Amino acid sequence: MPSSDFSKELQVALEASAKAARLCERVQASMSGQSIEKKDKSPVTIADFGSQAIIAKALRDAFPDVPLIAEEDSSALRTGDNSQHLLRVRDEVRVALDDSTLSGETICDWIDHGNASEYAEMFWTLDPIDGTKGFLRSEQYAIALALVVEGQPVCAVLACPNLANADGSKGALFSALGGRAQVHDKRGASDIRVSATSNFATSRFCESVESGHSDHDQSKAIASLLGIAGPSVRMDSQAKYAVLARGDAEIYLRLPTRPGYVERIWDHAAGCAILSAAGGEITDVDGKPLDFRHGAGLERNRGVVASNGSGHDKLIEAIATTSA
Ligand code: AMP
Ligand code: MG
Repeated sequence: MPSSDFSKELQVALEASAKAARLCERVQASMSGQSIEKKDKSPVTIADFGSQAIIAKALRDAFPDVPLIAEEDSSALRTGDNSQHLLRVRDEVRVALDDSTLSGETICDWIDHGNASEYAEMFWTLDPIDGTKGFLRSEQYAIALALVVEGQPVCAVLACPNLANADGSKGALFSALGGRAQVHDKRGASDIRVSATSNFATSRFCESVESGHSDHDQSKAIASLLGIAGPSVRMDSQAKYAVLARGDAEIYLRLPTRPGYVERIWDHAAGCAILSAAGGEITDVDGKPLDFRHGAGLERNRGVVASNGSGHDKLIEAIATTSA
């Protein structure tokens, strides 16, 4: 059973995510945009598989009875066509874990520890690289891991290797535990908090780079309705939640582009935990809380609206007005 305060869970999650982030950075430094296309046509890279292998192994070793619902599985790697990819994943994981004896088979088994799909009273959820398209463009991406207990993401880590910091450095590691959101660096951990801005005119809002993931035309209409003066900041991945959590933006809109798309839990659980611990508010476009009790999908929600907590109701109203 886990410790009641989940501090061991956070420690394991931080260490594994930091290791996975280093693997992603190494792969990014050496790659020329190679990816495999998944059945749904989305891209997946050596780094997605390597990151999931490292984190899934660490979770399985430390918490063997807690299921993991993760984005990737090893089926594509196990096909003959992708044997070269598997060798590259194996070599990257060997370097990351400093173990030259690891086999491709072992790594595929670790990846598949993440194949749980059903709701459980306590489970982990992982996006080994959230924003793979951003990763391929050398822009923003995140390693996103959360522990969901009784439907609430209570402990989470978000690693954003390409996120710029105020001091000019690059890369940030965020966590949430017990209602406390923190950013971690070499000097230790410090608390983060959403911005206190309550004026739409000066609010900064974020949305996906990909117009297929969030309706850019509707967000423009909402900004104009509410008098938001600046242009949207387009950014891949859950780095958007982190930017709100540390007070660098006030609004994140994810507006459905087509009826029937169900958001994946691993695209939101970690970011949601961190932003809510930092004082922010998260709902779907209808103002309902995100419901993590339905397996891998946010089956009962549509889109996502995140804010620093000020004017959240007005955002929901503006979405309804511009949807009509
Ligand atoms: P972002 O980087 O914020 O654009 O989000 C990336 C995530 O968007 C990916 O991990 C996908 O799971 C997810 N995604 C894929 N298709 C859609 C869609 N039609 N609407 C919303 N999200 C999507
Ligand atoms: Mg994702």
